[in-house]
Amino acid sequence: MSPAAQPRLTVLSGPSGVGKSTVVAHLRQVHPEVWLSVSATTRKPRPGEQHGVQYYFVEDDEFDKLVANGELLEWAEFAGNRYGTPRQAVLDKLAAGEPVLLEIDLQGARLVRASMPEARLVFLAPPSWDELVRRLTGRGTESPEVIEKRLVAARVELAAESEFDETLVNTSVEAVAAELLALMRIA
Ligand code: ADP
Ligand code: 5GP
Repeated sequence: MSPAAQPRLTVLSGPSGVGKSTVVAHLRQVHPEVWLSVSATTRKPRPGEQHGVQYYFVEDDEFDKLVANGELLEWAEFAGNRYGTPRQAVLDKLAAGEPVLLEIDLQGARLVRASMPEARLVFLAPPSWDELVRRLTGRGTESPEVIEKRLVAARVELAAESEFDETLVNTSVEAVAAELLALMRIA
C-alpha cells in the first residue's frame, strides 16, 4: 500500500469501562507524538480531569452553538450527555498527512464511517461481560444510576462489534496499546 493510501484516521470505540482512556493514555506515554482529538462534552469533569486535556468541558448552550456552526465532525448523546469531535483540528492534521486518533462512541464511529469511509474502525472489547462490569464499577466515578445507563449502552455497543474493521481485546493495556500502534503503523 502506498503511504497516501494508508488509513490515517483511526477510530477507537468500545463500551464504557472497557479501558479506552487507559489504553490511549498508555499509548501516548510511549508515543507522545500520536495526536489524539480532544472532544467537547457537556459531561462534568471527573476528579483530575482538566479542561482542554481529556475534554473541552462546555455548557449545553455552548454545545448547541458548536453544532449550529457546523464545528463538529460528528456528535452523539451518550448516557445523558453530549460529546462531539471538533472538526477543524482533525481536518488540519489529516491534510498534513499525520495520523489521527479519535476515541468516540459507537454512534460517532458510524457517523465517521459514513462521512470518511477510509477511516479504520477499531473496537476495544472486554475479556468478559463480568470484567467489564467490574472495571466500570471499580473506576468509582459514576453513580449506580449512571453505571446502569452505561451498561445498557454497553450491550448495544458489544452487539455492533462486527461493524468494525478490527477487534482488540483489552486484557493487557501494554499489549493492546502496542497492537493499536501497529494498526496505525506507528510502531
Ligand atoms: P473507558 O475509557 O473505556 O471508559 P477506562 O480507561 O476509564 O475506560 O477504564 C475503566 C477502568 O478499567 C479503570 O479503572 C481502569 O484502570 C481499568 N482498566 C483499564 N484497562 C484495564 C486492563 N487491561 N486490566 C484491568 N483493568 C483495566
Ligand atoms: P466518558 O464520559 O466515559 O468520558 O465517555 C463516554 C463515551 O463517550 C465513551 O464511549 C467515549 O468514547 C465517548 N466519546 C468521547 N468523546 C466523544 C466524541 O467526541 N464523540 C462521540 N460520538 N463520542 C465520544
